[in-house]
Amino acid sequence: MPELHLAEAATPPLGRLTIVGLGLIGSSIARAARRYNLAGTIVALDRDEAVRARVAELGIADVVTGDPQAGAAETDLVILCVPVGAIGAAAAELAPYLKPGAIVSDVGSVKGAVVAAIQPHLPAGVALVRGHPIAGTEFSGPDAGFATLFNGRWCILTPPESTDAAAVARVRALWEGMGANVETMSAEHHDHVLAITSHLPHLIAYNIVGTAADLEEATQSEVIKFSASGFRDFTRIAASDPTMWRDIFLNNREAVLEMLGRFNEDLSALAKAVRWGDGEALHAMFTRTRAIRRSIVAQGQETAAPDFGRPRPPEA
Ligand code: NAP
Repeated sequence: MPELHLAEAATPPLGRLTIVGLGLIGSSIARAARRYNLAGTIVALDRDEAVRARVAELGIADVVTGDPQAGAAETDLVILCVPVGAIGAAAAELAPYLKPGAIVSDVGSVKGAVVAAIQPHLPAGVALVRGHPIAGTEFSGPDAGFATLFNGRWCILTPPESTDAAAVARVRALWEGMGANVETMSAEHHDHVLAITSHLPHLIAYNIVGTAADLEEATQSEVIKFSASGFRDFTRIAASDPTMWRDIFLNNREAVLEMLGRFNEDLSALAKAVRWGDGEALHAMFTRTRAIRRSIVAQGQETAAPDFGRPRPPEA
C-alpha cells in the first residue's frame, strides 16, 4: 500500500488519548497518533508487564501504565484495542475514572455484541462511538504495529443515531488524521457485511488449512512440501491470532452462520458443475470472480503486483 503524505496536525485535536491493549492495532494507533500529532499525551494501558516494558522501550507512548485509574484519568478519548471478548471487562475497569465529556471507542471486529458489553458500564456524560478499522495483518503484539497501517484503508464507525454528534466528529477526525477513510453504518449492517468479507473467509481458511494438516499426516509432508500459492495464501490468513478470531466467531454467530449457509449452497452448485463437467458454468463463475478482484485493485485496496507484491527471491 503506498504511504499517503499526510500533514501533521498543527495543534493536536485531542488533549489526552488512552489506548488500551498495545497489540497490532493499539500500537499502530499509538505510532500514528504520534507521527501525525493527533494527541497532546498518548497513554498506553496494558495488563501485560512484558508488553508495557516493550512499549516503553519503543517510545511510542508518553505514559505507560497497567493501572486503569491512571489510564482513564483526565483522558479525552479511550480506544479499547483488546479482543472482542475482553472489551466489556476493559470498559468496566475504566468507567469509574472517566471524566464527563470523555469518549469511549473500540476497534473490535464485531459491533453488535460489543455495544451490549460496553454501554451498561459507562457513566452519564460519557459517549460511546464504536469503530472498526478494516486494516490489519496476521501478526500480533506491539512490535507488529506501524504508523501507516490505516493509510488509505476504511474505518467503519457504528454510532446509534442518538450519539452526540461532536463525539462522533472527534473520533472521525482521529481516524482521518491517521489516513483512514471513514464511513458510518449501523452495528447490525456492519456485522452482516463483515461476516461475508472477513469472517467467513477466515473460517474457510482455518478449515482448509486444518483439513490439509490432517492430510499431512497421511501423505507424509507432501501437502506442505508441494504447497502451491493458493494454499499458501490460505495459510497466511489461518495464521491470524487464535484469541481474536475465537472471539469474533463467538460474537457474530448469527451473521456468520447465515453467510455459511449461503456459502454451502453455492459450493454445492459448484461441486455439481464439476461433477457434471459443466465447463460453461465454471467459466462464467470464474469470470465473474476475476472481475471482483480487479475492482478491489482498481479501488486501491490491494496491489496488482504478482503474488500480492511479495518480494521475490533473487534470481539464481
Ligand atoms: P493483538 O496484537 O493480539 O493485541 C491485543 C492486545 O489486547 C494485547 O495487548 C493483549 O495483551 C491485550 N489483551 C488480550 N486479552 C486481554 C484481556 N482479556 N484483557 C485485557 N487485555 C487483553 O490483537 P490486535 O490484532 O491488535 O486486535 C485487537 C482488536 O482489534 C480486536 O478486537 C480485533 O478484533 C480488532 N481488529 C484486529 C484487526 C487485525 O487484523 N488484527 C483488524 C481490525 C480490528 P496480552 O499480551 O496480555 O495478551
